[in-house]
Amino acid sequence: MSHRFVAGEELDEALSAARFCNDQGMMASLDYLGENVTTTADAQHSRDAYLEVFDKIAAQRLNANVSCKLTALGLDLSTDFCEGLLLSIVERAAAGDNFLRVDMEGSDYTQRTIDLVKRVRSQSPAIGTVIQAYLYRSEKDIQDLLMFGCRIRLCKGAYKESPEVAFEKKSDVDGNYVRLVRMLLPSGFYHGIATHDPSMIGATIRAAAENKISKEDFEFQMLYGVRTDLQKRLVRGGYRVRVYIPYGKDWFPYFMRRLAERPANVGFFLRNFFR
Ligand SMILES: Cc1cc2nc3c(=O)[nH]c(=O)nc-3n(C[C@H](O)[C@H](O)[C@H](O)COP(=O)(O)OP(=O)(O)OC[C@H]3O[C@@H](n4cnc5c(N)ncnc54)[C@H](O)[C@@H]3O)c2cc1C
Repeated sequence: MSHRFVAGEELDEALSAARFCNDQGMMASLDYLGENVTTTADAQHSRDAYLEVFDKIAAQRLNANVSCKLTALGLDLSTDFCEGLLLSIVERAAAGDNFLRVDMEGSDYTQRTIDLVKRVRSQSPAIGTVIQAYLYRSEKDIQDLLMFGCRIRLCKGAYKESPEVAFEKKSDVDGNYVRLVRMLLPSGFYHGIATHDPSMIGATIRAAAENKISKEDFEFQMLYGVRTDLQKRLVRGGYRVRVYIPYGKDWFPYFMRRLAERPANVGFFLRNFFR
């Protein structure tokens, strides 16, 4: 069942999925699944996996970058240790003229993620991160990251958060998303607008037109297996589209987030499970 959202357990399956996207005129971001590791050995194993992905992307000349989670690199164990691993991956990315995107996790990690990304960004431009429109703090975080010339992926946010830190109503999250898109597009840096929501996509296209931002100056990003029709339509319209392709054995938490954010997916899952 997880195959709907996850390319496979092995890197080769993710590389084939990336090749397929490239053939359809889309870029890819490969994510080696894993989070909240509890030993330094597991964090080093994740680091090795990310290094291997960059090497394979270069060897196979794929149009793809890489996404990673800091808790897969030991953020729960030690910030300094995590920073060392992160830096080595970003150096590998930079050596191949590529780019590492640090995913954003639950709000307990937001400040630490931003601090770490800023520190590494001051040494290499080959790193960017993600901002979640459901958090009240996101406007300030974007201002902060833009001061460092940081490339940002904007998404709505996928974790369960309390009303102390995050908007609860979809209309408030959407309203903030559009406000943040309007901050990002004219900033002069290349950002990723990650959503499958046609009204967010429409608002982005309108904001780009109003600010005379060309289609080459930003990209839309969508998840593997979600709204492939919309992905293709945007490509036909001349927009840059990147597909986020997760792979690896530790797919369960990612799969559960995809089920949780859309109740219809649970029905789909149950129907197929019993069949
Ligand atoms: C490239 C990319 C990277 C991301 N990185 C992060 C990250 O680092 N941190 C983070 O917290 N979140 C991340 N997310 C997830 C994001 O925060 C949302 O949870 C998710 O994208 C759903 O929000 P939406 O903008 O598509 O809007 P929604 O309003 O949730 O959905 C709009 C429409 O999209 C379709 N859709 C959305 N989700 C699904 C699904 N799971 N299955 C089937 N159809 C669906 C449906 O048609 C739905 O009506 C990322 C999303 C993308 C696309």
